[in-house]
Order: sequence, then C-alpha cells, then structure tokens
Amino acid sequence: MLEKVVIANRGEIALRILRACHELGIKTVAVFSEVDREQKHVFLADEAVCIGPAASSDSYLNIPAVISAAEVTDAVAIHPGYGFLAENADFAERVEISGFRFIGPRAETIHLMGDKVSAIKTMKKAGVPCVPGSDGPLGNDLEEISRIAKEIGYPVIIKASAGGGGRGMRVVHSEASLRNAISMTKSEAAVAFGNDTVYLEKFLEHPRHIEVQVLADEHGNVIHLGERDCSMQRRHQKVIEEAPAPGISDTTRKDIGMRCVEACQAIGYRGAGTIEFLFEDGHFYFIEMNTRIQVEHPVTEMITGVDIVKEQLRIANGDELGFKQKNIRITGHAIECRINAEDPDNFMPSPGTIDHFHPPGGPGIRVDTHVYQGYKIPPHYDSMIGKLIAHSETRELALARMKMALSEVVIEGIKTNIPLHQRLVDDAAFMAGGTDIHYLEKKLGLK
Ligand code: ADP
Repeated sequence: MLEKVVIANRGEIALRILRACHELGIKTVAVFSEVDREQKHVFLADEAVCIGPAASSDSYLNIPAVISAAEVTDAVAIHPGYGFLAENADFAERVEISGFRFIGPRAETIHLMGDKVSAIKTMKKAGVPCVPGSDGPLGNDLEEISRIAKEIGYPVIIKASAGGGGRGMRVVHSEASLRNAISMTKSEAAVAFGNDTVYLEKFLEHPRHIEVQVLADEHGNVIHLGERDCSMQRRHQKVIEEAPAPGISDTTRKDIGMRCVEACQAIGYRGAGTIEFLFEDGHFYFIEMNTRIQVEHPVTEMITGVDIVKEQLRIANGDELGFKQKNIRITGHAIECRINAEDPDNFMPSPGTIDHFHPPGGPGIRVDTHVYQGYKIPPHYDSMIGKLIAHSETRELALARMKMALSEVVIEGIKTNIPLHQRLVDDAAFMAGGTDIHYLEKKLGLK
C-alpha cells in the first residue's frame, strides 16, 4: 500500500482523507496555511508542513509549495480532496512529473472533462444523453446561431466552455436578446476563465440535479454506486443531498448507471468521479463530470457500504476494485445537510470561535467535521464547517433521524444555517420528494 500521502486540502475533507489513510496503515502529511495550525487533521497527521500565508493563492493553490511538501517528507502520493487544486490538470501533471502519484484521474482526463464543450462531445460519443444544443462552440455567424436557437426552442442558455462554480452562464428568452447575451457571456468568460469559448443549449425550466457516482481502477474495471439527488441548491451551491434519488426506479438507475460506466470505459477513466445530470420529465441530460471526490460522497457510502475515499487510495496504489457491480446493493436512504458558518437569514459568512459544541449522535447518524469546541473558524475560506448525515431504512425514517440530529446540535459563538435546515426538512414539498433545482430559491423568495 502507499506508504505516505500528502493531504493537499483543509477542513472536513482533509480529516476524512486522514482517517481513510490511517485505517489502511498509510502515513499522512498535512499541509496547512499560517491560520490553519489548529485544525484537527494537522494535530492528527504523522507530519505537518506549513505551506504559506492564509490566502489560498499563496498556500492551498500554491503548486510548488504543495509538491515541495511531498518532497521534504518523502511522501509517495498526493490527495487533492475537492476544490483548490483537485480539478487542475496542470497540478495533476506536475505531481506525476515530480515522481508522485496523483490520487485522481490522469491529467488528460481532467483536462478533457474540465472543458465543457469537449466533455459534452466525449459523453455524447460514448452514448450518454446530453442537453439539446449547439454541438460545439458558437462561431460568429449570428444568423446560424439564431437558427439553432429557434430549432431547439427558447429559452436557451449560453454557457462558457471553461465555466465553473455556477459562473459564466446566461439564460436567453427570445431572439431579441441573443446577440447581446452571447457577447456579454464571451467577455465575462474571457476575464474570469481566460477563455471566451461559449456554447448554447436548451434551458430546462424545472429540472432536478441527479448525479451518478463512479469508481474505476487502472485495470479497466468500472462500477457505479447509484445516484444522488442534489436539487436543493442556492446560487448553484448544494445545500442538502440525498441518495437514492426519490422516484428513480431500479431499472432507470441501472440504465443510467451502465451508460456512465460505459462512458468511463471509453475514456479510460481512473479513480472516483461523478457524472452530473439535469433530470426532467423522466429524461437525463448530462451537464458535467467532476473528476474528484465530492462533498456529498457520504450519502452514497451510507447506502452502499463502500468507503469511496479508501477506494481512491487503493486505486492509486494500482489495486483492482474490491467490488463488482453485482456486489453493490443499495440499503435504505441517506440525507446530508451541509452545515455552514453563516447567518441563516442573509447567508453572510459568520467566522469566529466556537464556544460550545455538542454534536448529535445515535444510530445512523454521521458527523463529518473538523471543528471542535474552542476552534476558531478563519474568515479566509469556504464557510462549510461540516456535514450531518442521517441514514435509515426508508426516506421517511432518514428524515426523522435528520430532524432529531438537527435539534440535538449545539454550536455557539458563531451563526450556522441549522435553522434553515430545520425549516427545509419540515417542508411539505421536500418531504414529499422530487423538488426541482429552483425550489429552494423560490421558497426563500430569491426568485
Ligand atoms: P458549473 O460547472 O458552473 O457548476 P454546470 O454546467 O454544472 O456548471 O451548471 C450549473 C448549474 O446551472 C446547474 O446545476 C443548473 O442549475 C444550471 N444549468 C446549467 N445548464 C442548464 C440548462 N441547460 N438548463 C437549466 N439549468 C442549467
């Protein structure tokens, strides 16, 4: 097994990776910024290296600093977690050129999937259903573009090929605003992503967000672990996730799952990955592939019993997958609430010291967090401080467990979005299941 792994991340995912490594007998190296010395995984790691000042650009995004940490500690591999450098093909390549294993797909795959136009093209070729659209980048012929838009039918959405994090998109409701929308999205994309390539697709008006988890080893074995529903979103950020997706039959799961498996085989995928779809009127439409571990991976772990992070480590070690598709069984239902240090009314971040902390517990409750009583949340990073996951035999029981867990949590000293979660798990439409991606913003009066 890999001897020593650098965890190139912070927060709950760094701790999650550390636990998986230690369980497999792998030594760990934590890298941290100057304001992150007090993080739980930094205390628990076998070694820890400060890689720079608080600003992510100087520390967690500083490629030479992260690679040097692997060099000085004699590590053999680097786990990027999610966010930061996780989907940076250049980083993956430099890690491998420097003689370390990148715990994720090959750099070419990250590159291919990081560009939306090439990702869609690849998926389409592999038989994955995509949103009706322009079939490649938009050129300069406005008449031709108008013709395509008319054929697809308004509303359409103009998207930057290099876009990410919900940025670089514009909905167009009629031909009158098409020209302007294209030029605005192009110039924004040039500034934000250094690439002004845009494409066009049908804007789906009431889709759900459903994604499929895959695992692939270096020997050509690929499996899927079913799907997750992450439709409860605000500003394209997921707030609650669950698995399986309400109302998806075994046949549908098998069908979309196998298409994802075949696509991964076609591109020679390696590691854990997620293929994201919009789901409307019974149809799946591919939107993008995430070539890394995701925040919401625990709901899949709870219903399948597969430890996805441990599998990532084994795959990076060159092992064959420990599971065949026929061994994967879905048991019960799991729901995850992302706990953010933020004001539940206006969503403003609420960094500071946690004076009191009592996590919930009991059967089927999992708390993935790096915070503890006395921990000071720095203002420099994402406001997510942990995840609360409830698993039970049915969706109703998982919801009941989640309600109990939310009522047990005590976090004092900072504000959290727990009151918002309490409202959501008690919401009639959410309780019924199958709400679309606009539901939360509408409920909050933001739409
Ligand atoms: P990003 O990489 O920025 O996350 P995605 O392509 O995954 O971009 O899209 C982000 C979100 O934008 C989706 O979850 C969905 O809410 C919305 N969106 C993207 N494409 C469409 C579409 N064709 N129709 C409706 N909504 C869309």
